[in-house]
Amino acid sequence: MRDVIIIGAGGGGPVVAKELAAKGLDVLLLEAGPRHADPREQWTSFENDANNPLSGYFRLGPEDRSRPAWFREWSQNSFVWQLSGVGGTTQHFYGNYPRAYPGVFNDYDKPDRAEYDVNHRFPFSYGEMVPYFEWVEATAPVMTAAMGAKEQTFFRGCETLGLPVQTTKTTLGPSYRPQENAVLQPGGNAGRTTDRNLLTYPQATGCTHCGYCFQGCMRPIGAPRNQFAKRSTDNSYVPMALTADAWASGGRPVELIADAYVTRIHAESRGGALTATGVTWRENESGAEHREQAKVVVMAGGCTENPRLWFNSGLPNPNDWVGRGYTDHFFDWVVGSMDDYTGNPKGVGSAARLDFPPYGGLENVGLPPALNAFATTLSDSGIRGQYTNGRGATGPWDGPAGRVIGPEFKELISGGLDRLLSVLVITDDDVEPDNRVTLSALPADENGPIPKVTFRQRNRTARTNRNREFMARKAAELLRGAGAKKVYRIDWAPLILHVQSSMRMGESERNSVLDTNAEARAVKRLFIADNSALANALGGPNPTLTTQALATRTAEKIFQRYFGGDPWVREESPVVSTDSRISTRLGELGL
Ligand SMILES: Cc1cc2nc3c(=O)[nH]c(=O)nc-3n(C[C@H](O)[C@H](O)[C@H](O)COP(=O)(O)OP(=O)(O)OC[C@H]3O[C@@H](n4cnc5c(N)ncnc54)[C@H](O)[C@@H]3O)c2cc1C
Ligand code: SF4
Repeated sequence: MRDVIIIGAGGGGPVVAKELAAKGLDVLLLEAGPRHADPREQWTSFENDANNPLSGYFRLGPEDRSRPAWFREWSQNSFVWQLSGVGGTTQHFYGNYPRAYPGVFNDYDKPDRAEYDVNHRFPFSYGEMVPYFEWVEATAPVMTAAMGAKEQTFFRGCETLGLPVQTTKTTLGPSYRPQENAVLQPGGNAGRTTDRNLLTYPQATGCTHCGYCFQGCMRPIGAPRNQFAKRSTDNSYVPMALTADAWASGGRPVELIADAYVTRIHAESRGGALTATGVTWRENESGAEHREQAKVVVMAGGCTENPRLWFNSGLPNPNDWVGRGYTDHFFDWVVGSMDDYTGNPKGVGSAARLDFPPYGGLENVGLPPALNAFATTLSDSGIRGQYTNGRGATGPWDGPAGRVIGPEFKELISGGLDRLLSVLVITDDDVEPDNRVTLSALPADENGPIPKVTFRQRNRTARTNRNREFMARKAAELLRGAGAKKVYRIDWAPLILHVQSSMRMGESERNSVLDTNAEARAVKRLFIADNSALANALGGPNPTLTTQALATRTAEKIFQRYFGGDPWVREESPVVSTDSRISTRLGELGL
């Protein structure tokens, strides 16, 4: 019998694993996808190798690349961007770690209070969350992002908007700032030379400014895994979980099994309450099934797979909220072409942001060439200027919104990617019960019936639509202020990658799956610790910091409630994930 079984090693699961391993519990971490244990052999910097959603090494599928990716049904025009593997979707992420806006917590009482999604607030206060934010920020570690020419250009535009610079980690109002980011700062030769021979650890540390953040980053050359520039959880929390005995007094390393798909959560009635007792999981390679018992089970399979596993396990759904409230940030993409050099694809992908509570935010995003072309042609309005059916909204951008293709695209990129500045619009979305995950009627795969994602792209609430329009206009103004000759609004089709809240915690048992401790209301000893536990869309900030802070709090709740322990976040100091004790033990273990 294990103390705790955690399902999923993405953004949230490894946080609970690391925290409870440090307290000496016997933790099993099961991950459906592969573990890239030797990224220098397994990763390349070629865009297609990494990003191809069917055959790339970052995809949602089993380790064996000759097998197909796992299928999901989405009946509308959209793409759900989640990955499997140790690190989960953070294998693709930019490492941006902004805090949720205070307005999404239940104690917020400022005059703009009613402008937030007041029906779906966090069931506790912002003040209660702050120590958990601080704990994760110290662990990752989160720092002011290393910036370059594209951020300088972004800030030039921000200065024309009449907003102040933000100087606190808590967002107090509309403002702009460098990103709070976990990608390690360049040190030594990094950022000063492109000579590979000089970019070797420890002569170079942190980000070497190679410019391909979107893919795997195992730089600097020769760095131990926990000193890799990029802070996806396979480089931060997972190494800590695997070496807990080396850096925590009384710590016990977790057992991690990858390529292992959990197909069922078991529960039985105990003292009149349905109680989780363990899981069944399958080896993807051989199909062999294993059953494991545990005192506590933690779901961290992500927003799409958690509801699927819940339904496939036959667990109860008394208020019909399992899988509902599948919420994203209504993204858009606004691009400016400049006379001046911006260095758009160089360095850390996204190092500057503008926050505009309660509407959402903007961040600069530099993409490598193929993804840049993809982003500029992924539109819900069709081809710019080719239709007169009411799509392709006009505004402070040039011409109607839509795909930029053909001669116009050639013109746009004629100065090279280094003459562009791309702005990602991130909108606060209301939690909507009709956006949801159910089981598909299409054929099941080897792990059971597959998930179906229903998402109403255009029919979002008036507030969500207002937020997106407002922020897209701000993006166009920012680009003009930065000196753009031409500004294009793409009107992105739904690219669901900041997905959250499908198993949400909430104030009311009428519209939430989890109570205020992140324990399932309907099944005792079953907790959820990933984006799906989030109460709402956070006001717009990227979700991972809030997920990891909440997962840290959840680990404490588990330890207190079921293992008789005391909470530690307010009493102890966190260990940073780059600590040399972790590097040394990883070396000893050949990890
Ligand atoms: C291109 C891109 C850029 C991003 N940039 C940022 C950023 O800068 N900042 C930020 O905050 N966020 C960013 N995000 C979002 C971030 O990646 C997610 O918020 C985060 O990864 C979510 O964590 P999660 O644990 O909910 O899910 P995931 O990370 O998707 O992890 C779930 C894991 O569970 C596994 N799993 C699922 N079902 C099972 C099962 N039944 N059995 C075993 N394992 C299972 C999956 O294989 C997966 O590995 C970005 C995302 C993308 C795609
Ligand atoms: S630019 Fe990105 S991929 Fe390159 S070293 Fe820095 S973090 Fe890694």
